[in-house]
Amino acid sequence: MTTYSLLILPGDGIGPEVMAEVRKVISWFETSRGLKFDVSEDLVGGAAYDVHGKPLSDATMAKAQSVDAVLLGAVGGPKYDNLDFSVKPERGLLRLRKEMDLFANLRPAQCFDALADFSSLKPEVVAGLDILIVRELTSGIYFGQPRGIQDDNDPANEGGRVGINTQRYTSGEIRRVARSAFELARKRGNRVCSMEKANVMESGILWREEVEWVHKNEFSDVELSHMYADNGAMQLVRNPRQFDVIVTDNLFGDILSDAAAMLTGSLGMLPSASLGAPMENGRPKAMYEPVHGSAPDIAGQGKANPIACILSFAMALRYSYDEGANADLLEKAVEKVLADGVRTGDLLGPQGGTAVSTAEMGDKIVQALGALA
Ligand code: NAD
Repeated sequence: MTTYSLLILPGDGIGPEVMAEVRKVISWFETSRGLKFDVSEDLVGGAAYDVHGKPLSDATMAKAQSVDAVLLGAVGGPKYDNLDFSVKPERGLLRLRKEMDLFANLRPAQCFDALADFSSLKPEVVAGLDILIVRELTSGIYFGQPRGIQDDNDPANEGGRVGINTQRYTSGEIRRVARSAFELARKRGNRVCSMEKANVMESGILWREEVEWVHKNEFSDVELSHMYADNGAMQLVRNPRQFDVIVTDNLFGDILSDAAAMLTGSLGMLPSASLGAPMENGRPKAMYEPVHGSAPDIAGQGKANPIACILSFAMALRYSYDEGANADLLEKAVEKVLADGVRTGDLLGPQGGTAVSTAEMGDKIVQALGALA
């Protein structure tokens, strides 16, 4: 039987608290579903700085490169705010993303019916929403050269300076993220919508042509459509359920994925994944993490919602371990617990109610797994 390797990096603040609940879920899958995990745990962020003087040790980096998947909690906190930029907790996270070359960032926007009232949109527009935004993460305008702020000798330029960033994509960079999106679509609704601004940007024309090339030559079984990114933004708030997988560049993806995430309500509910090139075993290099940060305002109080981290583990089941049915089961267990009215404080809303603790939420999800299995 296959043993799935997993490196857990709880990090700082509420990271260790939410990760403890994922541990319960992993144990349940081992004892009740016969899955076998080789789990190791290590330090990242401020926790690593406290021990090693840097936010990610070389040994931890090497471990991350050798496992099937990394699951990270959160990094950062006020204690580390005044550290030198080079050793700030976030640098640990950035090093993992860079050295593992995680070029495809996956941000699902899924609206559980029980939380439809939490969305800023009408419940009937978002109920049952399940879309996945695939954002190119390692290239584009955030990295392109030339960049900078320069003096400019144009007397007509009041202020006399010019700010420059460069949107640059190679065909190879576009093709590899397009492949990720098509492969993911095959595991979902089999539809991809590619978003760019081919009407006004040459990099957008190349983006569209290369996505079409990959589609025609490798994924013609998947339905492909194109949309200008500004229209995409409108459609996301007008009728988000029309989409299955959206693939887009780094800049548009940054904005569209945040907008889509808020369709679903609380930060404590949002998982993410970052995937790289396939490893020898055919599975992609992968790191999974909740979208939220270390939440220092509630850390250590048992108030954190562990669902974002638990759903990040569900993504690992689906995309790193090819355990789609077990990923579905875990998502259904979360859905059941929410439908039963179990809420951490962040999910209470204006009508109030009684909040359960982080550990109680984890226990309820494990119980729901047992009831559904
Ligand atoms: P945050 O996401 O940590 O918190 C924002 C708000 O949401 C807070 O009020 C917090 O209590 C609440 N919240 C977040 N997650 C929650 C959960 N699971 N359950 C219940 N409530 C939750 O963002 P912030 O306050 O801007 O940043 C705090 C620290 O986290 C900073 O040091 C920042 O740099 C870091 N950060 C890290 C990551 C990461 O590790 N990926 C991401 C964002 C921020």
